[in-house]
Amino acid sequence: MSGLRMDDSLLKKPHVKPARIWREAPERGEGWVKCDLCHRRCYIAPGKYGACGVRKNIGGRLYTLVYGLLTAMNLDPIEKKPLLHFNPGSVVLSISTAGCNFYCQFCQNFEISQSRLEKGLYGFFREPEDIVLTALKHGADGMTYTYNEPTIFFELLQDTARIAKKYGLFNTMVTNGYITPEAVDELEGLMDAATVDFKGGGDPEFYRKIMFVPDPEPIFESMLAMKEKGWWIEVTNLVVPQIGDKPEYVRKLARWVVENLGPETPFHLLRFHPDYKLRHLPHTPVKTLENLAKIAMEEGLKHVYIGNVWGHPLEDTYCPRCGYKVVDREGFAIVDWRLTSDNRCPKCGYKLNIKGRYKPRSFHLPVPVF
Ligand code: SF4
Repeated sequence: MSGLRMDDSLLKKPHVKPARIWREAPERGEGWVKCDLCHRRCYIAPGKYGACGVRKNIGGRLYTLVYGLLTAMNLDPIEKKPLLHFNPGSVVLSISTAGCNFYCQFCQNFEISQSRLEKGLYGFFREPEDIVLTALKHGADGMTYTYNEPTIFFELLQDTARIAKKYGLFNTMVTNGYITPEAVDELEGLMDAATVDFKGGGDPEFYRKIMFVPDPEPIFESMLAMKEKGWWIEVTNLVVPQIGDKPEYVRKLARWVVENLGPETPFHLLRFHPDYKLRHLPHTPVKTLENLAKIAMEEGLKHVYIGNVWGHPLEDTYCPRCGYKVVDREGFAIVDWRLTSDNRCPKCGYKLNIKGRYKPRSFHLPVPVF
């Protein structure tokens, strides 16, 4: 197979490791493989890459090219993910690599997500043990796999998550939800929480034309798999003005969340800011976000947040029963935590859907750590 000789040098690199969750695909031809990590389910010819650009068929076997090859490592507030109802106030060590399985034309992290080997795939190498020790050294409570789509660096994620668990850290990921149920299965007992990021309300046309994703439908199947495995889930939706702000899709998404994940699932409507190839669009008008928040509430969601609009009243948490403001936030900071130690409303005693106890932070974040 010609791919093997050509890529001999690649196989010697520490960041190139055998991939997991793939199979040989002789039905496509000699030496072909099929990757089942994400719903693209790429068939890959010898010597070629998957759609994410960081998995390569070398000599009839699939390899990850980004094992331990980090593009960022930061201490973040968990509220930045956003995860507002999971271990509030905690500190997470966030890591990312290059590459992504989506091609969002508005990506804020496009330098890393759209980086490919041919374009100068980059990063600094860290073994999973080193990453976890860095988290412990800096007093982090958990890990977050984020900035680019963590599914595409699955092997690094899985190994790091396993070590993190041993040391008592929790694991969370920020994902576009295109991870397959098979990959979710392989993270059993390792992943604790996920922020699942929708864009444009899950409008299939928006996914096709602006993100080059054939169909958002499999994301729902994956969220059900996450729920079955007991992951904590918060759902976000990036509202892109003019092209990704249709109320009917937000209504549909909110209804699905109510019916399948429950009415107290945190639901975040995020403000778009112009970036990458959509710099000609304006920021999302706050009024648009407020109208969509009203729609999500009409569908029965009890915790609807507006993100990226600092100082907005929907940054805060309200008791679903009596309406009392129980958590006051400014951006990613909690300025007043009024819930009881078992996360009950101090006015009416209602137990809020919050996992973990509030832990006040003693230092300012985010902080890069290399
Ligand atoms: S992880 Fe990459 S190679 Fe695998 S199916 Fe997804 S895009 Fe294709």
